[in-house]
Amino acid sequence: MRDRLTLLELVRSLRLRAQVSRPEDWAWGERQTALDRLSSEIVSCRGCQLAATRIKAVPGVGSPEAQVVFVGEGPGYEEDRKGEPFVGKAGQLLDRILKAMGLSRESVFIANIVKCHPMKDPSTPEARGNDRPPSPEEIAACRGFVERQIAAIAPRVIVCLGAVSAKALLGTTEPLSRIRGRWAEFRRPGGSGAPIPVMPTYHPAALLRDEALKGAVWSDMKAVLAALGREAPGAGVLRPPGASALKEGAQTRR
Ligand code: SF4
Repeated sequence: MRDRLTLLELVRSLRLRAQVSRPEDWAWGERQTALDRLSSEIVSCRGCQLAATRIKAVPGVGSPEAQVVFVGEGPGYEEDRKGEPFVGKAGQLLDRILKAMGLSRESVFIANIVKCHPMKDPSTPEARGNDRPPSPEEIAACRGFVERQIAAIAPRVIVCLGAVSAKALLGTTEPLSRIRGRWAEFRRPGGSGAPIPVMPTYHPAALLRDEALKGAVWSDMKAVLAALGREAPGAGVLRPPGASALKEGAQTRR
């Protein structure tokens, strides 16, 4: 009888440990440790050709307990030098969008599908306007990192910024114009845990190039806030940034 009780306790304890080890149940420290380990892997990664030309790898920034993870395409000129995502003109616009949503860089997590700077001409790394979208091979080599970051954070919502991010995370070939603004699902690698709702929207750089897209982005961000059960801070705050700011960075990709 005593042996049976001991066995029962052991089974209960193993079940409890299995549940506690799910990322959804991790404490802040466990999430941070997982993200730090991933960052170390990323900065020493040589998994694709971009390793040869990057200045700094760009793992991602933000809270390990973020309710929202924003995923862009890849680092650009500024990000390559600073090792941080979305620090150029498009990044400043993303900061303003976050502020209007009542969020901040510190309260969300921001990352890219590829972690190193894709350049049109890697022999001229000092040239501006030398950015290009990552190739399918580069995306395939790198996407595991962002998937593991998402798994460690277990956010309530993912926002895909641009077509590259949306297509990579959703595994679709549909154009962004078809999938933008419609909830989709990110299925975690290995099928563990519930799918995470995904909102595909335009990349802030697209907004810089075409001011007419800003209404669609605001509509998408309001849907994200509603999914989080948060009120939009108010019509006076939740308005697109000024046209001058939009035009100023019109040539900037990230
Ligand atoms: S882009 Fe990704 S896979 Fe390629 S070297 Fe950088 S971290 Fe590694």
